[in-house]
Amino acid sequence: MPSAIIVGSGPNGLAAALTLAAGGVDVTVLEASDSIGGGTRSGELTLPGLLHDHCSGFHPLAVDTGFSRQFGLENHGLRWSLPEVQYSHPLDGGRGASVWRSVDRTAGELGDDDNESYRRMFGPLTRRFPQIVDEFLQPLVHVPGHPVPLARFGLYAALPAALLARRWESEEARALFAGVAAHSFRPLWSVMSSAIGVALGTAAHRYGWPVAAGGSSTITTAMATRLAEYGGRIETGVSVRDHRELGRPDLLLLNTSPSAAADILGDDLPPRVGRAYRRFRHGPAAFQVAFAVEGGIPWAHEPSRRAGTVHVGGALPEIADAERRVVRGEMPERPFILVGQQSVADPDRAKDGVHPVDAYAHVPAGWTGDATRTIIDQIERFAPGFRDRIRSTRSLSTRQIEQYDPNFVGGDIVTGANTPFQLVFRPRVALNPYSAGIPGVYLCSAAAPPGAGAHGMAGWNAARSALAYLGSL
Ligand SMILES: Cc1cc2nc3c(=O)[nH]c(=O)nc-3n(C[C@H](O)[C@H](O)[C@H](O)COP(=O)(O)OP(=O)(O)OC[C@H]3O[C@@H](n4cnc5c(N)ncnc54)[C@H](O)[C@@H]3O)c2cc1C
Repeated sequence: MPSAIIVGSGPNGLAAALTLAAGGVDVTVLEASDSIGGGTRSGELTLPGLLHDHCSGFHPLAVDTGFSRQFGLENHGLRWSLPEVQYSHPLDGGRGASVWRSVDRTAGELGDDDNESYRRMFGPLTRRFPQIVDEFLQPLVHVPGHPVPLARFGLYAALPAALLARRWESEEARALFAGVAAHSFRPLWSVMSSAIGVALGTAAHRYGWPVAAGGSSTITTAMATRLAEYGGRIETGVSVRDHRELGRPDLLLLNTSPSAAADILGDDLPPRVGRAYRRFRHGPAAFQVAFAVEGGIPWAHEPSRRAGTVHVGGALPEIADAERRVVRGEMPERPFILVGQQSVADPDRAKDGVHPVDAYAHVPAGWTGDATRTIIDQIERFAPGFRDRIRSTRSLSTRQIEQYDPNFVGGDIVTGANTPFQLVFRPRVALNPYSAGIPGVYLCSAAAPPGAGAHGMAGWNAARSALAYLGSL
């Protein structure tokens, strides 16, 4: 039986492990931390009994993928749970806009000027999204199986987000798109900065933005349960520094950042791959605050109280300015903030009327300041009375985020800048981007295509490459 070692038990590491084990490989996963899951772990952070997602909270792109269809984690303890409003965007004066599952309802609420235009863009994309997402969740350079829907998606995705947002007239509609596009951590005037926003925005209509009931950790515990059924093993508390410690497995898959992979593989890495891994660019960072909030956040824009995710940053020009500054290394006075209200979708997470809220601000890479007060002020701006409802907070700086999970280099929670170059060629220019240039060795983290997210698709794709390699021997 061929053997494989997977370094790292994030969703990509475990997806790779599971795919290899199902393919008849004897799999061992080595994880540096004491617990599995990487960016999908959950647990108490503020008050006893209040369940927070430590990192990943919402999973629109994990619901229907090649990996999810192969392994059916819903039969192994994973249950997706949807909020009523998928995401929303409050503006000053109690105004705002919201995304519902229905394209028509979302478009209708944007008013007469924008109704038709929203429907014309998101209607066809939503209908063809299963085909688009299959294309999107693999290396972008490939022969497309569904060229027509992919071309339609590409027409929008290629544009700067701030330009695409101008197809709508109202401040509400423009802000709604700016908020979802800002997930890319890119200046909104840069080429292809729409890509992630168009994908996530369409996914909200097709699949919703679900939380994992009982915490995101259930995503990876379901993978681990499945892996054990195939005879795979996981060892925690093992930090791998040098691949020579690992004996000679037939396959080695690294669920790490490219620079960590270069350290682990050392001189055995072909020099051109080593150079590419060390040149890999990380993006801006997050500063995280977990809150325990009595009665939830009192958003003045009422639908935001029913939204799983709330994008906080004001109108399009304000968000565009904040994102531009962050990429340039300047801390904006009013940064863009994502607020996760998981208990809206998963009510059991609230306890005695106190709700867990997981928020993070976009800040410059490696920023050393404390954004707790700034985050509270920004939320208070759109939810007067929020401050008085806070019962407990727990903040994590960019450095602490990297200490928590070394793949988030400098606090870069998406494991690699989404520059146009890296959207197309990550982690390096190669026919097989997962290959580390050593036979049987692969990079399978979010630094590889399709990039960030707790969907496991980088792991699944890398493992399929590895199985093809074994088959070719
Ligand atoms: C605050 C925050 C919010 C987020 N929100 C979302 C969201 O809502 N939705 C979403 O889809 N994604 C979200 N993400 C991103 C998501 O968590 C990541 O993209 C995803 O976890 C990447 O998976 P991965 O398997 O590649 O790596 P990771 O999850 O980072 O796992 C890597 C694992 O490898 C281990 N490791 C690394 N080096 C070594 C070594 N040398 N030896 C042994 N073990 C090692 C690490 O300890 C870690 O457990 C968020 C991330 C953060 C931080």
